[in-house]
Amino acid sequence: MIRVQSVAPDSLGAELGLFPGTELLAVNGRALEDFLDWEFLTAEDAFLLLARLPTGEAVEYDVERPEGLPLGVTLEPPRIRRCANHCDFCFVDGNPAGLRETLYIRDDDYRLSFRYGNFATLTNLKPWDETRIVEYRLSPLYVSVHASDPVIRRWLLRNPEAPAIIPQLRGFAAQGIEFHAQVVLVPGVNDGVELVRTLGDLWSLGTPILSVSVVPVALTEYSKHELVRPPRRAECRAALGVVSDFATRAVAERGHPWCFGADELYLRAEETLPPAEWYGDFDQRENGVGAVRYLQTRIAAARAGLPDLRGKRIAIATGTAMGPLLPQVVTDLERAIGATFEVLPLENTLFGSAVTSAGLLPGAAFLAALRDRRDVDLALLPAEAVNDDLRFLDQVSAEALAARLPMPVRFSYDFADALTERGTGGAAVPAAFRVPRSALGEVDR
Ligand code: SF4
Repeated sequence: MIRVQSVAPDSLGAELGLFPGTELLAVNGRALEDFLDWEFLTAEDAFLLLARLPTGEAVEYDVERPEGLPLGVTLEPPRIRRCANHCDFCFVDGNPAGLRETLYIRDDDYRLSFRYGNFATLTNLKPWDETRIVEYRLSPLYVSVHASDPVIRRWLLRNPEAPAIIPQLRGFAAQGIEFHAQVVLVPGVNDGVELVRTLGDLWSLGTPILSVSVVPVALTEYSKHELVRPPRRAECRAALGVVSDFATRAVAERGHPWCFGADELYLRAEETLPPAEWYGDFDQRENGVGAVRYLQTRIAAARAGLPDLRGKRIAIATGTAMGPLLPQVVTDLERAIGATFEVLPLENTLFGSAVTSAGLLPGAAFLAALRDRRDVDLALLPAEAVNDDLRFLDQVSAEALAARLPMPVRFSYDFADALTERGTGGAAVPAAFRVPRSALGEVDR
């Protein structure tokens, strides 16, 4: 059973008489378990919907709708499928106390993998899930492989029940499901010959494996350091060598690199990132693969529409991972708008210095870095660091932060977005800095 959270006014759902709290029970006699059932079973233009209104009354609707007209129904959030593993490097274990509740959920949910690109291990699939993946063609899925050797993978996942991943992927692939895969690199466990074996086994599955990324394990000060450590520079270089060998072969045989190192792997190896073209459609950008080159392409594309902000000083607050890489990103931006950018790589005061991602910075870190910076005209903060309610991981609201800063702030995914959304009113009057707070990313003091 799924429940309606809201119904858009003047929509078909409102016309039918659906309300928030209405339970959606079945479509064409098939019980509804979650949003996937709802979306796939109501994709037809005509269907029978069985529902129970908040009054308790059961109603059957004979729905007919013009092609493509949405029902206008938003469902309550799904119950997240919990993880069956206990990885030593699990980020949930690396969380300190007192964060948003959702940060303590170990999600391992193929539905979110399909919808949002979250990586799932597929270790908690029931036969019913496997059937749905094929029936609904949930493809591509993002899967954490880590190691193709079942024993090593079970050790990494701390799950003796984890099924062998290669036969599992092969079975799905035979039924038309495709995958983006990742290997979280744990030195001494799945690097070296095991990395070669894993990439070779994935390669042998053929084109259903669309891409593979190799990502260095990320740890916090709260992680189980007695059990796992981050890879050293030489180990990252060795891993990039393996990645390069497979990518070279893939380009020759399939016409695209297929195998990618995460930006952080290059950073730790102190090696130069490949050019933007190498990453194709940046399929694993959200996984930190090609993120820097993606930013550069976004800035280049927006360049013509950027305002003239000569004489302004703009601070970019980010994590320590991006800090050393950003100067190459903002150089073009500086040339285009005349402003001076200052990159502020912030230590993560919540998780510790080992956590380097901008999206995991707490509000307190931004406050400490910016509260005395009266020489800054505008601060750009990473949009990934706040949730939909504009709250940081430490529950600080963006509004509360902005009230304590001496400059306006904007949230930005790629810098260019924050500078081109609105007109500036001319070079000397950066009106963009003063427009009222918008729910989508600007906070006035
Ligand atoms: S798969 Fe491992 S890292 Fe991911 S949530 Fe489960 S225990 Fe944590």
